[in-house]
Amino acid sequence: EVAVLRLGHRPGRDERMTTHVGLTARALGADRVLLPDNAGQSKETVADITDRFGGPFGVELTDSPQGIIRNWEGRVVHLTMYGERVQDVEDEIRAAHGDEGQPLLVVVGAEKVPFDVYEEADWNVGVTNQPHSEVAGLAVFLDRLFEGRELERDWEDADRRVLPMETGKRVESTDEE
Ligand code: SAM
Repeated sequence: EVAVLRLGHRPGRDERMTTHVGLTARALGADRVLLPDNAGQSKETVADITDRFGGPFGVELTDSPQGIIRNWEGRVVHLTMYGERVQDVEDEIRAAHGDEGQPLLVVVGAEKVPFDVYEEADWNVGVTNQPHSEVAGLAVFLDRLFEGRELERDWEDADRRVLPMETGKRVESTDEE
């Protein structure tokens, strides 16, 4: 299992970012996302997209994001520009997740992340050591973790499916009688 935990959410200001953490986690192969309990609107949007475009993908609220980290039965990756270089630790993380079957919790922040999180994580990982965004960091990390296989996945229980095309937009209904 791969779960993504969003730490911190400023209502209003972080609405799109938190939603995009959820949508990116879903699109790029994570199994579920955990959002702070003041991010109910983002949860609704992610659940709505999952209903329409398919899953399986879970979205939950938590009143104790740091409790989730402390009690996680598996390994914890915290994405941070201050961390070890993703290209140096990805094999080790993949081995723990793939070969040992350890559930993986991928933690991304919003504003300042408490120092405890750096200590509790099994790996602090930088996707470059430059400041950018939790959405970008998450996307690159998941793609490295899954080595691109997430791009091939099938979606279950979708109402609609996009037909890839060179030009134009086509969406097909998946209703089958
Ligand atoms: N300045 C904040 C701090 O020191 O904790 C981080 C703010 S940043 C806008 C929000 C989140 O984006 C971070 O918590 C981290 O998860 C992610 N992030 C930003 N740059 C990153 C990088 N180079 N590698 C990995 N994650 C990154």
